[in-house]
Amino acid sequence: MSAFARTLHGLIALEGPITVERYMSLCLAHYYATRDPLGSAGDFTTAPEISQMFGELIGLWMLETWHAMGRPGSLRLVELGPGRGTLMADLLRAARLMPDFLAAASVHLVETSPALRERQKAALSTSGVPVSWHDRLEDVPEGPTLIVANEFFDALPVRQFIGTERGWCERLVGLEGEALAFGLKPEPEASLGSPPRLGAMLEWPVAGLAVATGIARRLARQRGAALFIDYGYWGPAFADTLQAVKGHAYADPLADPGEADLTTHVDFHRIAQAAAGESLRIHGMATQGDFLESLGIAARAATLKRQASPAQAETIDHALQRLTGRGPQAMGELFKVLALSHPSLEAVPGLAPLPSIPART
Ligand code: SAH
Repeated sequence: MSAFARTLHGLIALEGPITVERYMSLCLAHYYATRDPLGSAGDFTTAPEISQMFGELIGLWMLETWHAMGRPGSLRLVELGPGRGTLMADLLRAARLMPDFLAAASVHLVETSPALRERQKAALSTSGVPVSWHDRLEDVPEGPTLIVANEFFDALPVRQFIGTERGWCERLVGLEGEALAFGLKPEPEASLGSPPRLGAMLEWPVAGLAVATGIARRLARQRGAALFIDYGYWGPAFADTLQAVKGHAYADPLADPGEADLTTHVDFHRIAQAAAGESLRIHGMATQGDFLESLGIAARAATLKRQASPAQAETIDHALQRLTGRGPQAMGELFKVLALSHPSLEAVPGLAPLPSIPART
């Protein structure tokens, strides 16, 4: 058993079962602080790590949106959970097309992991744009803002509730002998109403909603937009989406605490509801495949292939398929895209405006 697992067992033995949210929160903090989880030697691979085309197209999205904002001379270019900094590096390279954009931009990376901050520093050392790091979005200075978050919301802890005859009861993690085991809080959470069926699961992304609300308030105060890409759905799903991944394979979320990546699928409807509360415009949701295709990924792949060796051309085709493919092995359909914008920004590239939806009360 790892030292972290021993501490966790000790905590539960002392305090009793903890909520799934606290379990995720403790495990994820340990997990991200102690490693670079990305890439073939790590646990999982993300879209920017698959191909430079992903970050480049997000770069074009940023350029066009900055243009639509009236080309403000000072722009906060924010990324939440930037991983190895690859997306931002590719985005800034694509942005060289428009030197005025680069002259206006300062990059703000919201990242809690010291190990990944080091990777980001190395990736952006020659970007020519000022870069600073923050623990929270609230610490990023005010001003016109463009935000991107790829596979960020899925890495935030959620509360889970299970539908029982008594109502929604919170899912807990406790000890069964020497092993961690799921349990249930006996008293239901009355404020959640009644479950649609027994055994239904309600995931409540407390941290994700706080971030979404913070972004919405910021975009209501000043011009700008935010772009979110994640494995997700338009909810509610009433399903258990908690999963652990270790060494590119699914694992038991309780088996090796702090050593596997824990994620849940993102409910984009809840993010949109947070934005509706601030009267922002909502764009999407679209599938990642449709979004990247409408930004011109096929043409970008063709351009890259013209200067490529046959082996490189094969890699580009393979990446295109992974990013846009519609099957269960690819990201094109499973991953979704949603954007929020200040009311003055009527359209953003690659996404259709969503008619207004009721805010969550
Ligand atoms: N966006 C990157 C990495 C995704 S992994 C990519 O697409 O490759 C999730 C990222 O979010 C990591 O950088 C992780 O350290 C960061 N992260 C996780 N929880 C966070 C939190 N609460 N605040 C800020 N960053 C966080």
